[in-house]
Amino acid sequence: MYNVLLYYQFVPIADPEVFAAEHRLLCESLGLRGRILVATEGLNGTVSGSVAACDAYRAAMHADSRFASMVFKIDEVVEHTFKKMFVRVKQELVTFRADLPSNPIDATGARLTPTEWKERMERGDAIIIDGRTDYEFDIGHFRGAIRPDVESFREFPDWIRQNLGDKKDAPILTYCTGGIRCEKLTSFMIHEGFTNVFQLDGGIVSYGKDPDTQGALWDGKCYVFDERIAVDINHTPDKRIVGTCLHCASPTETYLNCANLLCNRQHLVCTECETQFQQCCSVACMDVASTQNG
Ligand SMILES: [Zn+2]
Ligand SMILES: [Zn+2]
Repeated sequence: MYNVLLYYQFVPIADPEVFAAEHRLLCESLGLRGRILVATEGLNGTVSGSVAACDAYRAAMHADSRFASMVFKIDEVVEHTFKKMFVRVKQELVTFRADLPSNPIDATGARLTPTEWKERMERGDAIIIDGRTDYEFDIGHFRGAIRPDVESFREFPDWIRQNLGDKKDAPILTYCTGGIRCEKLTSFMIHEGFTNVFQLDGGIVSYGKDPDTQGALWDGKCYVFDERIAVDINHTPDKRIVGTCLHCASPTETYLNCANLLCNRQHLVCTECETQFQQCCSVACMDVASTQNG
């Protein structure tokens, strides 16, 4: 049995380079694999490892006063979900725009528990913003959420100004995979003058594990950044598939990277089209791909 851990903590880290070097040694000694980002503003990670290794890692982190209260979301899996271990130093934990005011340690949107979030959704008076990117939205999202027209997180500030600039006092609910992007997003929104902003505490992953909500009102699957690609969230009978095949628009939940190595575009594809298009996103890519493997 293996675990996948997902976690973050906004806390000042004085020397990220030194911290990252020591942290890499800790992870490697435990046989963990995954991706950990370190910045002066904190730490953000997702790793897989044996249950014993993940337990030891959590204990080591909680023994450090900076991470004593760090929340770990824990999934059970049958094997590693990453190939290698990366610990990287970055300017920001999630790439937003360093020049914009957004400091989660100062002010962020009010946190809603899964139960509070579901009740707030059911009231039907709030604008629900998906705090992720378009391809994550396409395989699954909260019912009624707005699909932000962004390909990367750093496009959010402009998108918010253009699309929500006249909604500064409206109730706004934001959510993302594990919660960290909403910390940045809602912090930015509060600096922009939004007065009624809420974030789903612990993100979609925690919502899917909550025994009371059981992931209700989530449609499709939740995109994750490891080899699983997407995981189940809604464990109620009211489940819907929202992903559609790029080629024929029939329902599907299979993401595939285009077989043209120069393209590699991740796209949703149904079983029939996967065969017909030879795992490519277009006829043009099929032509290119056929010359690559000879
Ligand atoms: Zn199809
Ligand atoms: Zn392609």
